[in-house]
Amino acid sequence: MNSGRRPPKNALVSGLVPVRPRNVRSSARRLGVYPPGRAAAAPTADEVREVAGLPRGGYGDPPRQWQFGALVLGALALLVGALALLLAAAPGCSTVAETPTAGRPAPAAAGPQGPASKEAPAVGREPGQSWSPPVFTARQRERDEMVRVIKAYGLEDEAVLAAMAAVPRHEFVPAAYSLSAYADTPLPIGHGQTISQPYIVAEMTRQLRLRPGEKVLEIGTGSGYQAAVLMHFTTEVYSIEIIRPLAEEARKRLERLEYGAVKVRCGDGFNGWPEAAPFDAIIGTCVAGAVPPPLLEQLKAGGRMVIPIGEEDSIQYLMLIEKDAEGTVHRRPLMPVRFVPLLRGDPTAR
Ligand code: SAH
Repeated sequence: MNSGRRPPKNALVSGLVPVRPRNVRSSARRLGVYPPGRAAAAPTADEVREVAGLPRGGYGDPPRQWQFGALVLGALALLVGALALLLAAAPGCSTVAETPTAGRPAPAAAGPQGPASKEAPAVGREPGQSWSPPVFTARQRERDEMVRVIKAYGLEDEAVLAAMAAVPRHEFVPAAYSLSAYADTPLPIGHGQTISQPYIVAEMTRQLRLRPGEKVLEIGTGSGYQAAVLMHFTTEVYSIEIIRPLAEEARKRLERLEYGAVKVRCGDGFNGWPEAAPFDAIIGTCVAGAVPPPLLEQLKAGGRMVIPIGEEDSIQYLMLIEKDAEGTVHRRPLMPVRFVPLLRGDPTAR
């Protein structure tokens, strides 16, 4: 269940504290700055060799004159050989033209082995389920780098990593923060709210252990990003947001990005979603002093809830709350975190 590994200290904050790279030297190399701290000076040939693991002063030296001559002779010999081969093959050319599939497999018929098998693997899709996750190619390298950072915390769940690599976080943040969309940090989404840090989103998703077809309830839709990630595991995603403009924007955004199957409601998530209950899993993305009793009631036997519990701007713990087959509730703290508060009241007043 839990990987048993503790995330590094600076991973524990889901609030507005940016996480600094832990390995400046390797980050500098990744950014093409070599060696770190000497960005202005170009690397010497020996430095490049050292990084590439090549012997000093060996490969890559300019060819001497006799070597150049040998190269020209070699190229000439190759040219003559190629000409001879062409002449020998000439009488057979027409035969080859008449049998275009010779030496190649027959054109692929559409079917299990055909082009359809090339589509991106659907994560957690049930047989017969019509929805399949949309595929986004823009900024894929940045998403892959974000996933590499999440993996470095010790999170190795392949399905979770695949979902994080698939959902275009840059579509869920305001344009002003687009450049930072794949940094492992929370970002403002307006109305005093934030989209959570990617590592926290991944870890909370992992703790839910969702199976296809299970029903999951999210408290705090915000941008809709976490809901989109959940869709990669089950199409039964319900999400409640108390701030009306955020709920409406999230609904439109999810629709536009082909995650429109997420059911978004504007309301006070403290009360859960009684008409859709019970839920196999519940995820809270805003902090409350205690688990709201309606949420506990709406959790199925065998269900999992991941929710931050604590005080605003003070000590908060991400809790895993499980209801066993007999209905007994078990609580376990996972890690210290910092979330925005669970607000109460009438959403129409906001
Ligand atoms: N999951 C979001 C991040 C949410 S931040 C994402 O992926 O972007 C927490 C959200 O909880 C905020 O949008 C806040 O408005 C909302 N919220 C706070 N109190 C709430 C309540 N009682 N019911 C529903 N949503 C609430």
